[in-house]
Amino acid sequence: MVCDNITAAPGGHLLFAGQDTTALAREYGTPLYLMDEDKIRENCRSYTTACRRHFGERARVLYASKAASFKRIYEVMQEERMGVDVVSSGELYTALQAGFDMDWVYFHGSNKTDEDIRYGMDQGIGYFVADNLEEVQALEAEAARRGLRQKVLLRLTPGIDPHTYAAVATGKVDSKFGSAIATGQAAEMTQFTLRQPHLDLAGFHCHVGSQVFSGEVFQRCAVIMLEFAAAMKKRHGFTARQLDLGGGYGVRYVSSDPRLEVDAEIGRVRAAMEDACARLNLDMPEIRIEPGRSIVADAGMTLYTVGSVKSIPGYKRYVSVDGGMTDNPRFALYRAAYTCLPANRMEESGGLPCSLVGRCCESGDVIQEDVILPAGISRGDLIAVCTTGAYHYSMASNYNRLPRPPIVMLRGGKEHYVAVRRESLEDLCRNDL
Ligand SMILES: *Cc1c(COP(=O)(O)O)cnc(C)c1O
Repeated sequence: MVCDNITAAPGGHLLFAGQDTTALAREYGTPLYLMDEDKIRENCRSYTTACRRHFGERARVLYASKAASFKRIYEVMQEERMGVDVVSSGELYTALQAGFDMDWVYFHGSNKTDEDIRYGMDQGIGYFVADNLEEVQALEAEAARRGLRQKVLLRLTPGIDPHTYAAVATGKVDSKFGSAIATGQAAEMTQFTLRQPHLDLAGFHCHVGSQVFSGEVFQRCAVIMLEFAAAMKKRHGFTARQLDLGGGYGVRYVSSDPRLEVDAEIGRVRAAMEDACARLNLDMPEIRIEPGRSIVADAGMTLYTVGSVKSIPGYKRYVSVDGGMTDNPRFALYRAAYTCLPANRMEESGGLPCSLVGRCCESGDVIQEDVILPAGISRGDLIAVCTTGAYHYSMASNYNRLPRPPIVMLRGGKEHYVAVRRESLEDLCRNDL
C-alpha cells in the first residue's frame, strides 16, 4: 500500500488507521474526508525530532497550514510544539479560534492586504515574512502608526528549479513569489528593511516549490541563502538570526513515488550548511522549516459512493462518484496521480480500467484516469482515494452548490470524531440576501 495506515480486512473491507471505511461511510455519509490524527502526530514528530537532532533546541518546525486549515489541526500543532505559517487573515483567525500561540505564527503570502497587516498586528503575530519592497513599506507604516517594532523575515528567490509541477514551483528567478537574489532586488530589499526604524529584520526565508524529492534542491537552496546572508553581513554588518528554508518535502501518492527519509534529508542539509558556514565564516543561524503537505497528506483519505458506471463501447468506461473537483481539484490543476481503491471490494483482484470522475458539470472534473476497478463495480460501491490530507479540504469549493464534506478524525485504532461538520443546504445560502 501507498502508506502503512492503509490495510484490508478479511471480507474485503478497506481499513484506514485500523478502522473500517465502510462503517465510517455508513455512519457519516459520503463524500467524506478522513484524517488519521496519529499519523499527523507521527509526521510532526519525525520533523521535530530530526530538526532538534541536527539543528539544536532552538530550531523550530512550522506547519504550513494552507495544506489543511481548520481549528482542530491548530490544536494538534500546538500540542506537538510546532509553529504555524498562515497566508491570510482567514487562516490566522482559525488559528486564533484554536487558541494558537501568536508568538509562533509566521504570516506569509505574496500579497498581504492592508487589512491582513492590521489584523496580524492587532493579534500580536510573531513574524511577517515580507515578499517585496512595497510590502516592507506597508509593514513599516503600520508598525510606525502603532509605535511598535515588528519582527520580519524577507522572502528571497534563490533561483532554483525544483523539478516539480510548474504550478507549484516557486524558487525560480521569474517566480511571482519573493524577491530574487540574482537581480539584486533581494539585496535592495534587505538594505531598505535595515533602515526602517519599526522593523526588526530577523533573517531570510525561501521556499522553492512543493512535492520536491530531490535532496540536492534543499541543500543547494540552503547554501545559496547562507551565501546571501554572508554578503549582507559583509555589506551591512547585519547578522541574520534566523534562516527559514521553507517546505516542499514530497509525499507518496502512488507506490512508484519515492519515500522521503526526513531525518537523513535534514541531516544532509545540515552537513551542506556546516560546510558553507565554515567557508563563509558565519555562525549557524536558527533554523526554521515549513512542511505542509508532508505533515497531513498521508493522514488523509476521501471516501466516495459510486453513482453510475458508464461504458462507451469501443471507447472507455467512466465510474462516477458523489464528489469530484469540488473536494479534490488537484487532477484538474496538476493532473495529479492518486491511488484509488474499491473500499468494499478489496478482495476482487484484477478488473477493468476506467476514468474515475466527479459529479460536476465540467468535463475536466476527473479524479483519476486509468484506474483499475473491479469489473462488477456499480452504484452504491465505495471508492477510497488515498493521500488526500493536504490541499483538498483547503482547496474545496461549492461549485454546483455542492456542500463541502466533513472531516472525521480517527485515532487510537477505534476512536472517531467530527472535526469539521458537513455543510448543510442552509449553509450554502448563509450569505445570500
Ligand atoms: C506552501 C508553502 C509551504 C509548504 O509547502 P508544502 O509543499 O506543503 O510542504 C511552506 N512555506 C511556504 C511559504 C509556502 O507557501
